[in-house]
Amino acid sequence: MKVLVINCGSSSLKYQLFDIADENVLAKGLVERIGSDASQLTHQPKGKGKYVRETAIGEHQAAIKMVMDLLTDAQYGVLTDIREIEAVGHRVAHGGNVFSRSALIDDEVKQGIRKLAELAPLHNPPNLLGIEAAEKILPGVPQVAVFDTAFHQTIEPEAYMYSLPYELYEKYAIRKYGFHGTSHKFVAQRAAELMGKELSQIKVITCHLGNGASVTAIDGGVSKDTSMGFTPLEGLTMGTRCGDLDPAIVPFLMEKEGLDTTGISTLLNKKSGVLGLSGVSSDFRDIEQAASRGNERAQLAIDVFVHDVKKYIGAYAAILNGIDALVFTAGLGENSPEVRDAVCIDMDYLGIGLDKEKNGIRGKEMEVSAADSTVRVFVIPTNEELMIARDTKRLGLDT
Ligand code: ADP
Repeated sequence: MKVLVINCGSSSLKYQLFDIADENVLAKGLVERIGSDASQLTHQPKGKGKYVRETAIGEHQAAIKMVMDLLTDAQYGVLTDIREIEAVGHRVAHGGNVFSRSALIDDEVKQGIRKLAELAPLHNPPNLLGIEAAEKILPGVPQVAVFDTAFHQTIEPEAYMYSLPYELYEKYAIRKYGFHGTSHKFVAQRAAELMGKELSQIKVITCHLGNGASVTAIDGGVSKDTSMGFTPLEGLTMGTRCGDLDPAIVPFLMEKEGLDTTGISTLLNKKSGVLGLSGVSSDFRDIEQAASRGNERAQLAIDVFVHDVKKYIGAYAAILNGIDALVFTAGLGENSPEVRDAVCIDMDYLGIGLDKEKNGIRGKEMEVSAADSTVRVFVIPTNEELMIARDTKRLGLDT
């Protein structure tokens, strides 16, 4: 039972082919710089050598066709016929108020995703391109959309409403949506398994700390609040995104710096965050290295990030009336003992304590709480693709 998972960005396409019967990954890969003369395809079949090719790939359909050819290639393939693919799952960024769960794709679902492009202009259109390309190449094969926002649709109005004139909410659907939902849900479920409890019995704060970063408060498996908002710009300081700031800064800067809406949007989304603060890089590896060599702005960027994560944990512990578990995931959450340590220092008022030695691990699933920590602290590598594959099987093959 083969399920292909596709994550289409504006100029990239990531894929994983699962044998969903045993949740084994048969092949995975990435096409980068679609639309340029120097696109690159990296394909890693299980148990075989890696294939890398640089060539011009004009658009998403051509990229998917190349992936399909590779999946059935005599040397690098893992399938004898592409018709072995029984269902395709797509990561879709924005499901708005419309999609509170994954959906089997039909014309109405596509129309919904198209309409929501207004809320996610950088993400939903390429997601849709991926869906349409896969439909053309695999006609009749069930396709499923899994939304980054869906898990957060349980958030109550007091947490998702912004204090703007209510008519603007009605007119433009301006509210908190939240993102990274598939990841938060996956690691919360896994934490419950590791604790030997039902997810419905526990309260968890999940910290997805990657290039994009968000924290979520989960009570009994239900998302209660999350740090990203109407767009993925709100919340924590991120790689290049500013996170929370006083909204008055926006018109102030537009006026002082002579910026139009595109200019201010680029500043806040691409030039801010730890990149803007440090002036070094958006990548925490570079920043940690620079800080260790005495670069004060790099240290400042780390301090601001850590402060933000701590602040959201405190806020969400208050919302949840205490927590049973704290989970770190994504690039930085999984790989930076320093950040985890800095976040968890002086959190004993919440019952959070880290075991320094265990916390030294990188990129592995591990409980890292101290023996006397009343809150269980976990590092859990996220696996959004597996979640998408599971939903794709459930909606595309089991019904
Ligand atoms: P995204 O999927 O949002 O692009 P990732 O989850 O891959 O991002 O996370 C990328 C971030 O994780 C980068 O800032 C990177 O520096 C950080 N990261 C990855 N590995 C390490 C590491 N070994 N030490 C510190 N930071 C790391």
